[in-house]
Amino acid sequence: MNVDPATRTARVGAGVRSGRLQAAAAAHGLTGLPGSSPVVSVAGVALGGGLSWFGRKHGWISDGVTAFEIVDAEGNQRHVTAGTDPDMFWALRGAGGNFAIVTALEVALHPAPHLYGGRTLWTAGHAPAVADAFRRITATAPDELTAWLDLLHFPGAPPMVAVDATYLGAEDEARDLLAPLDLLPAPLSDSRKTMSVAELGSITAEPTDPGAGLSRAELLTTLDDDATEALLRNPIAPLLSVQLRHLGGAFTRPSDSPHGPLTEPYALYLFGLPTDPAAAAAVTARQRDLAAALPASGRKPYTFLNPDEDASDAFTPEATARLRTLKRQLDPHNLFRANFPVA
Ligand SMILES: Cc1cc2nc3c(=O)[nH]c(=O)nc-3n(C[C@H](O)[C@H](O)[C@H](O)COP(=O)(O)OP(=O)(O)OC[C@H]3O[C@@H](n4cnc5c(N)ncnc54)[C@H](O)[C@@H]3O)c2cc1C
Repeated sequence: MNVDPATRTARVGAGVRSGRLQAAAAAHGLTGLPGSSPVVSVAGVALGGGLSWFGRKHGWISDGVTAFEIVDAEGNQRHVTAGTDPDMFWALRGAGGNFAIVTALEVALHPAPHLYGGRTLWTAGHAPAVADAFRRITATAPDELTAWLDLLHFPGAPPMVAVDATYLGAEDEARDLLAPLDLLPAPLSDSRKTMSVAELGSITAEPTDPGAGLSRAELLTTLDDDATEALLRNPIAPLLSVQLRHLGGAFTRPSDSPHGPLTEPYALYLFGLPTDPAAAAAVTARQRDLAAALPASGRKPYTFLNPDEDASDAFTPEATARLRTLKRQLDPHNLFRANFPVA
């Protein structure tokens, strides 16, 4: 990995994890476009489009990729940009593993001299008031502010509710924007502070070792009173977590990628543990019921697809058709078999 602060770019080898890029960028007051976990590879998340903490300000993670170094289906090493090969460049920015082996990427870095963020946590009894505050915050949030609502029920702990937030700016501005949280009953904990962009993974503190999990994602068209009531109507068990990520902002702008603009204002992520077949069935049923009760658009981010879903669940019919045509042209013998095939 090389970071060039003068041009605000980085060249990142395919195995580099997001947290390593963040640490290198932070040393220059810059940031990449990190997701919630520092252990996910920059290549893996960018090849699927990718939802970043800073997507409301800067768009899809793949929007920040300016070049791919690849080995194509004929074994040729190539440097692919929007100018040299617009079709391959477009396909790699969202349906990645289907078209080439990526050996490195060039990504844009963004100024981030100040970052404020953290998690504020309450017992689940406060969920209606916390959700109300979350909706008020997201209704007027500038693109520099990102807030996620979490319903959590970890084994051995009582059900809880949390708001995770990051603000690309000064602490006093962030505290003003997040003031509705300070009017709520005293939280169990509050980790909000001025932080380095290298510390982002501490906000959600997701597991860093591989483990079994059952996930389902949806994109929501609204979070109105009815949707909020449906979300909070019953305890989330047997799910461990229900996360609502506020989108909007730069996600809605044109994007030279298979996903294109993301117009749904919220992403929903439902997660549970398949500890045995009965538990797996219960988790899947709860995910299905919650998804059915909420205003889901039917489209899903590619990086949040689960094994029962298909690449076409992530893209419009037009984008799916273009991907299939390109797959036939660029990899006619289906050498590259991604987890979510396009053909
Ligand atoms: C804890 C956790 C948090 C997450 N948070 C987010 C988030 O905030 N936002 C988000 O969008 N996603 C998130 N994800 C999903 C994540 O982006 C995807 O699982 C992604 O595919 C992981 O990439 P990887 O390279 O780490 O994994 P891998 O399993 O190594 O790669 C996944 C697939 O990507 C393709 N691929 C990877 N590298 C290459 C390469 N060099 N060349 C060609 N194809 C390649 C392959 O098809 C491969 O099967 C999260 C996942 C986890 C586990």
